Amino acid sequence: MSYDLIVIGAGPGGYVCAIRAAQLGLKVACVEGRDTLGGTCLNVGCIPSKALLHATHQLHEAEHNFDAMGLTGAKPKVDWKKMLGYKSDVIGQNTKGIEFLFKKNKVDWIKGWASIPEAGKVQVGDKTYDAKKIVIASGSESSPLNGVKVDEKIIVTSTGALELGKIPKKMVVIGAGVIGLEMGSVYARLGAEVTVVEYLDRIIPGNDGEVAKTFQRMLGKQGMKFILGAAVQSATATKTKATVTYKLRKDDSEHSLDADTVLLATGRRPLTEGLGLDALGVKLTERGQIATDKHYKTSIDGVYAIGDVIEGPMLAHKAEDEGMAVAEIIAGQAGHVNYGVIPGVIYTWPEVASVGETEETLKEAGRAYKVGKFSFMGNGRAKANFAGDGFVKLLADKDTDRILGAHIIGPYAGDLIHEICVAMEFGAAAEDLARTCHAHPTYSEAVREAALACGDGAIHA
Ligand SMILES: Cc1cc2nc3c(=O)[nH]c(=O)nc-3n(C[C@H](O)[C@H](O)[C@H](O)COP(=O)(O)OP(=O)(O)OC[C@H]3O[C@@H](n4cnc5c(N)ncnc54)[C@H](O)[C@@H]3O)c2cc1C
Repeated sequence: MSYDLIVIGAGPGGYVCAIRAAQLGLKVACVEGRDTLGGTCLNVGCIPSKALLHATHQLHEAEHNFDAMGLTGAKPKVDWKKMLGYKSDVIGQNTKGIEFLFKKNKVDWIKGWASIPEAGKVQVGDKTYDAKKIVIASGSESSPLNGVKVDEKIIVTSTGALELGKIPKKMVVIGAGVIGLEMGSVYARLGAEVTVVEYLDRIIPGNDGEVAKTFQRMLGKQGMKFILGAAVQSATATKTKATVTYKLRKDDSEHSLDADTVLLATGRRPLTEGLGLDALGVKLTERGQIATDKHYKTSIDGVYAIGDVIEGPMLAHKAEDEGMAVAEIIAGQAGHVNYGVIPGVIYTWPEVASVGETEETLKEAGRAYKVGKFSFMGNGRAKANFAGDGFVKLLADKDTDRILGAHIIGPYAGDLIHEICVAMEFGAAAEDLARTCHAHPTYSEAVREAALACGDGAIHA
């Protein structure tokens, strides 16, 4: 009943923290209220959405590219129940994997919902556990939107969208961020008419503007429609249908759309309910996140917080890195996360990946920079694989050539970005990448060509 560390929440932040702390010799328990480990990410987030993206990408390839390669035959039929079964298997394998890792590393899983009655104590049901240190990794939940009543059947969050009873004919997605576009893309590939309604005048806010425009064009070619600059007023459902009303910001005119399914994807908010933080006196930020210092300490001694519940991008790998860092700090080591080099990926086809500065942030900071850009059309592998649409854009300091950021839209962008992340961690110049031999024929050659374009020029452009 007594631990060096109790972690609350077994998402990527919490479970990674628990495992690392155990590896560093601490006696650790992790409390999780869900029936399975892995948090949002493994149960209703990253992993199930990527399973559906993978399956529907294969369908898209079969429908659009097989014939051109001489692979002829009947178009594959979609067995939706079976596809959902595949997704559930993937979740099961992953969540069971964390259970195995807990056993292997001697982390105790305390099942139930935790609260913190006082520093040094964690309450789960009628049991109270002593903990020298506590890490809160309680994650996040979908943000609500005024006028939109979620029932998780017709009007759904991402959780309901991963489990729809049938493939909708018409779907309205509220919000053109990562989750909305990924799930919208899944259903568009399955034949739904998908319309994305977004408040801003652009999609994927925060990403490079040029990438966003290219991405919108590509998704448009795949059949997705966009209504930008539109403020959703309401979404109401009958037993089988929904109506979404919105006002165009440019002229305040009101419009409506009918749909079989409405996906509310306007963002997520930190989840702190039930932890007893108010009574404990834990300070929150204005946005409801748990306030922490650079070492993830909250305003209460011995209580730390990491992941989606604190500030910063709501990403699984950001939570994981913080989990490792805080475990190391608690064990007396120098845990650290470099927030300047956290990649962001959208797992549509093509993928979109970014790291570091954008042209917009560099202009705002008044920093002189140069752009090295290379189109996948000049990449032999991409051309052969029907993946020539898109580009790599590398941003480097104008004087020193140091890499400041990168933005990729194209095949496997989410994997390609890491070469640039490593280069940035080592403080590399674009020339360092440009002088590194890259195997041919690979998509990675496009990254090298973009680096060459920061200097004397790309070869295949
Ligand atoms: C549809 C979707 C797709 C996504 N795709 C990606 C992606 O591709 N890549 C990416 O990086 N990120 C993605 N994310 C975001 C990612 O899932 C989160 O950033 C990540 O899960 C945050 O990890 P966490 O450990 O902070 O919290 P969570 O994963 O939310 O885990 C928190 C856990 O704490 C538990 N908990 C909460 N309160 C208590 C309590 N009082 N007692 C006990 N247990 C408690 C919860 O049940 C939960 O299991 C996606 C999210 C969604 C919704």
